[in-house]
Amino acid sequence: MNDQPSFLPFSAPSIGQQEIDAVTAVLRSGWITTGPRASELESAYCRLTGCQHAIALYSATAGMHLALHALNFKPGDEVITPSLTWVSTVNMIVAMGATPVFVDVDRDSLMTTAERIEPLISDRTRLIIPVHYAGAALDLDSLRKLSQARGIGLLEDAAHAIGTEYKTTPVGASGTAIFSMHPIKNITTGEGGMFCTDDAPLAERIRRLKFHGLGVDAFDRETHGRAPQAEVIEPGFKYNLPDMNAALGIVQIERLGEFIRKRTLLAEKYLELLSGVDEISPLAQPDFENRHAWHLFIVRLDIEASGITREAFMARLKEMGIGSGLHFRAAHLQKYFRENLEPGPDPLTNTEWNSERILSLPLFPDMQPDDVDRVVAAIKSILAGRKS
Ligand SMILES: *Cc1c(COP(=O)(O)O)cnc(C)c1O
Repeated sequence: MNDQPSFLPFSAPSIGQQEIDAVTAVLRSGWITTGPRASELESAYCRLTGCQHAIALYSATAGMHLALHALNFKPGDEVITPSLTWVSTVNMIVAMGATPVFVDVDRDSLMTTAERIEPLISDRTRLIIPVHYAGAALDLDSLRKLSQARGIGLLEDAAHAIGTEYKTTPVGASGTAIFSMHPIKNITTGEGGMFCTDDAPLAERIRRLKFHGLGVDAFDRETHGRAPQAEVIEPGFKYNLPDMNAALGIVQIERLGEFIRKRTLLAEKYLELLSGVDEISPLAQPDFENRHAWHLFIVRLDIEASGITREAFMARLKEMGIGSGLHFRAAHLQKYFRENLEPGPDPLTNTEWNSERILSLPLFPDMQPDDVDRVVAAIKSILAGRKS
């Protein structure tokens, strides 16, 4: 007999019969790429977030690429973004020929602020890309004030933030925000992203750029395709979201409330059980009113007191059948950026401190409350083993 409990992954999408039926219906329909289901998912995002325009894309990274492309960068133009972010943002900035200027984050929320950004603004700064981290909200009022006062664009990386509310307003309701539907995110389309904006000319441009730069996007039911007379208005890309994927997202977005309720219960249980573990500190939550979507449950390991590195700690968890994640390893410490970017003006003290100590514990809607007990027991046993 095998008494080992099964491996607990750090994340898993919640896919039920409804999702399977929705995708199967698209497969049987005769139209599997971008069409009516993608439009329906865009409308669902508009209803949920209150945004005026939503454009379905094949990834959030594609949205970053299109947003940067729409700015027509000249060499030397700068984008201010945290180094503690997913590398796709930094990759796109560099690939577009612009220069990333890294801003430090708060040590305990992992989010940047207007006060940290302001001193880094130069006459070449074109855009600011802060991250709503782990499902908590950025302090948007002060970021918007800074962006307006200095005439610099603000693009919210909302990859973690579908369902998050800043004060009482959903992220995405105004301004420009990009969501991700990668399988670890709070809702998934397999791969996918959603570009939400209240800027009508920008929305029109993104819609065109996502599909070859053609002037026409509408799905034509009679010809089962786009109007054949469509012509290139400007050279574009191929970033559209197929209906097979969108159908999955339509079911998932209906279940978002259920997902966040389950995530919140698990997160609250972690917070309670870990409150007595000195070597483990969870992130701080915003001090303004907000709704946390609990995308990730991130903790910092006290590597000095425990005498164990984060890498060894994650390896021990894995041996005990528990997965964990790392969101994120600071971009400026990774090989290409280390070797090719000049150090910027911000010393990134909190970024480097966290980059060495953070890990994400298992958190997903189908996880059971008992699994939280198991993770915390494993953490305590690893720490006890080290101190003795
Ligand atoms: C996942 C993620 C992205 C990229 O999303 P994709 O849909 O995989 O392109 C961007 N930024 C952050 C903070 C992310 O976590």
